[in-house]
Amino acid sequence: MTVLVVLTDSSTRNEQQQAAALIRRSCGEVREHSPSLLSTVSDLAVVDRAVGHLPQVRHVARVQGDYPRASVQSRMGRPSTVALGEAAFGPGQFTVIAGPCSVDNHDQLMEVGHAVRDAGGHALRGGAFKPRSSPYAFQGLGRRGLELLAEARRVTGLPIVTEVLDVRDLPAMLPCVDMLQVGARNMQNFALLRELGTLRTPVLLKRGLAASIDETLMAAEYILDGGNTDVVICERGIRTFETGYRFTLDIGAVPVFKERSHLPIIVDPSHAAGETARVIPLALAAAACGADGIIVETHSDPAAALCDGKQALPTSRLPELIDGVVNVARVAGRTAGPTMSERNDRQRELVLTGDPAGTVASARVRWR
Ligand code: PEP
Ligand code: MN
Repeated sequence: MTVLVVLTDSSTRNEQQQAAALIRRSCGEVREHSPSLLSTVSDLAVVDRAVGHLPQVRHVARVQGDYPRASVQSRMGRPSTVALGEAAFGPGQFTVIAGPCSVDNHDQLMEVGHAVRDAGGHALRGGAFKPRSSPYAFQGLGRRGLELLAEARRVTGLPIVTEVLDVRDLPAMLPCVDMLQVGARNMQNFALLRELGTLRTPVLLKRGLAASIDETLMAAEYILDGGNTDVVICERGIRTFETGYRFTLDIGAVPVFKERSHLPIIVDPSHAAGETARVIPLALAAAACGADGIIVETHSDPAAALCDGKQALPTSRLPELIDGVVNVARVAGRTAGPTMSERNDRQRELVLTGDPAGTVASARVRWR
């Protein structure tokens, strides 16, 4: 059983070494994750006897799985916040990433990007490298897709979230990308996780199709162990016996991730739903059960999408989605928002009062 020992921030190097030596003597092994975070595999009572009495020890706790850095105990129960552009995943906020499954072409991405921004989305997603079950299916535009993502960031101001399949693509990706997505199929690609741990780019780690909650947190631990603290977990549905939808959205995992880890957790309703009509209900469920945000596939012309068109929410329905999740997230205790109609009211006020704060593009003002 992993047991961690949290030391006071003011502990000296000598005090840290003293605690580590006592743990080593009683338990055989000690891992020093940071000056104030130590862990070992032992019994809680043994560790507590060894160091619990020291004044530099704040907390001795048992962790559910072997993920001391990701554990909720490592931050004494305080959830962490991961910044993405002007938005952030963390307490009090509800962050929406939206965009096409794949970057299909220039016009599609710019159109969707503007729709996401205008509906109040916080970040634009779009795959340039696509993990496809069939090697003959569209694999993404690759480097050209990255150039288009960089352009979409420039023209919309939205941060970009895109999937990394291969560590060899990272040098080309890093200048164009604000958050690197690890897809469900790569959740236990440990070489990839280790490499992402060396970076300081935030990582969106999707839960594997058949991965347990603890296996997901241990995958996150690989990234944290390298020193990259900006990890967000994504519940995107798991494989079960049920064939009524593409994957079973394990909504119950959201509060359990929160019980066990300080990392933010968002939900992908699209890949679980498999069909457009189910996306908004699942997104609302995510907001209701305490998720820190969602990542949703949307397309201006779903029928023409090169990947996952069947589950893409038409961009025309983004305001309905975002207003819905913002309202539900508020009921669930978050100060997310404003909704689209509140923003429109504010813009209308600015126009009516001739507020010098700046002109408001008329196309963005919706009169009711
Ligand atoms: C995606 O986000 O388009 C994707 C492939 O997701 P997942 O890895 O969850 O299947
Ligand atoms: Mn997809």
